[in-house]
Amino acid sequence: MKPQASKAIAVTAPSRYRPSRDAADLHVHTTHSDGVCSPCEVVVAAARVGLAALAITDHDTVSALGVARREAARWGIELIGGVELTCEYEGRELHLLGHFILDDDPDLLEAMAVLRNGRVDRLRSIVSRLKTLGLSIEEKSLKRAFPRAVLGRRHVAEFLARTGQVTNPQKAFLQYLGDGRPACVEKLRLEAGRAIALIEAAGGIAALAHPPADLRELTLRTLIELGLRAIEVDGPGFSRSLSRRIKAQADRLGLIALAGSDFHAPDRPGRWVGAITTPHDQLERLRMAPKGRPDHAINPVLDRSSAALNQSVE
Ligand SMILES: [Zn+2]
Ligand SMILES: [Zn+2]
Repeated sequence: MKPQASKAIAVTAPSRYRPSRDAADLHVHTTHSDGVCSPCEVVVAAARVGLAALAITDHDTVSALGVARREAARWGIELIGGVELTCEYEGRELHLLGHFILDDDPDLLEAMAVLRNGRVDRLRSIVSRLKTLGLSIEEKSLKRAFPRAVLGRRHVAEFLARTGQVTNPQKAFLQYLGDGRPACVEKLRLEAGRAIALIEAAGGIAALAHPPADLRELTLRTLIELGLRAIEVDGPGFSRSLSRRIKAQADRLGLIALAGSDFHAPDRPGRWVGAITTPHDQLERLRMAPKGRPDHAINPVLDRSSAALNQSVE
């Protein structure tokens, strides 16, 4: 008999929703980063929807995996060790997922600790700049207002709106927090090549999460040369046409096509655990992908033309 789930769990899919029995949600967050549900809650939600597998991919931490693994074993669902690393490539932010990572790799753990410390320092700098600008805000009050959150700019904006210091969170970005505004502080990011190397060294497979719509194919090819093996082709921010285009590109470049809900909270419509899934064949490709540098050759006929090199995804 299956264990009973706690009544507190509110990660519900519509009652008639049933993904295919062997599908996997490969992109889910928990309270260990910026999600609002605990590792056990997301495991239970995945089991209830009927998924075969679930990857917990918290931002810059693997601390949820140990407890989730035990819960997954109770429910008979596969828990895939994952992470989402905040990276930078050519001056823009990219998110890289690592699947099948070992959660005790010392180099990966150290790099993630640096990123997390950077986040704490960044928040401190933002608060201090806002105070200099005459606003009333303290780290303590932010923590009180969002007790379970990993605090970032969005929370600061929301706090300023709640305390009546701006009319709405968007105004906070326009006036203070947005790029180039006086309380904007750069986020610490890992260089993408280093992130891919860390994921590989930890036994994982690197995937590009929610690729930007204007991502150039040349960039993608360079990331593949660095060791990228997979890419998200569907998720909550994808239009149907974008999803189709990236899927075609993944096929052409030999990338494994992944998808996931990027679940953070039950209140985001259409983003429950298991709302968007990776089919079984792609999960198996991911599982069987060789470790180390990629050995699959890019199709030389299609891929060497300069037109293809400069083609944008969007
Ligand atoms: Zn992301
Ligand atoms: Zn995510």
